Amino acid sequence: MLALDQRGSGGFKGTRYRSEAMTADGSDDSDGFAVGALGKPAMLVSACLLGVPCNHLGRANASPSVLALGARHRLVPVCPEVMGGLPTPRPAAELRRDGRVVTVEGHDVTEFYVRGAAAAVALAAAVGADRAILKARSPSCGSHEVYDGTFRSARRAGPGVTAAALMAAGLEVADEEDELARSRSSESPGAPPTMEPPSGA
Ligand code: SF4
Repeated sequence: MLALDQRGSGGFKGTRYRSEAMTADGSDDSDGFAVGALGKPAMLVSACLLGVPCNHLGRANASPSVLALGARHRLVPVCPEVMGGLPTPRPAAELRRDGRVVTVEGHDVTEFYVRGAAAAVALAAAVGADRAILKARSPSCGSHEVYDGTFRSARRAGPGVTAAALMAAGLEVADEEDELARSRSSESPGAPPTMEPPSGA
């Protein structure tokens, strides 16, 4: 059975859930697990970057440099397309210049993307996240550019539906390529950042 413990002692600053069976006398809380402990700030992360096989092909895009952020942040996975009600796998879709999201078969699925974006914004507020690391070039998660809706691998500048919504909500949004470049430059100060080849979202 779990019980709340908000003593805040011993350097612990957050809310801790503990097993009453193991720590009923309060003498040893080492078996408990902490929620919001250690002062780690929450960060939304595209779930596929954390290894969840939720992209449109039913695959993951796990990123070691993003996973490493877990040492300093409380990583909160988010997949706006799944949260918006789309299945996995699902048809490839691209964000057109007119703001509509259309599948490769020509179906307008904008409502799912808008619903997923709203869910991501609500999740960010619920967990207190003010940063997000998202999958590059996804029609939902792309933060700098997206495929342009022609299904010819052409890109255009601009964020995906969820990235735009999170930015509008005040979050700092970057993608996994930004994080990889940042981590490499911090490992080798002065060295030019290198980028991994893109992979589909
Ligand atoms: S890029 Fe975003 S929407 Fe697409 S699978 Fe990853 S988390 Fe889900």
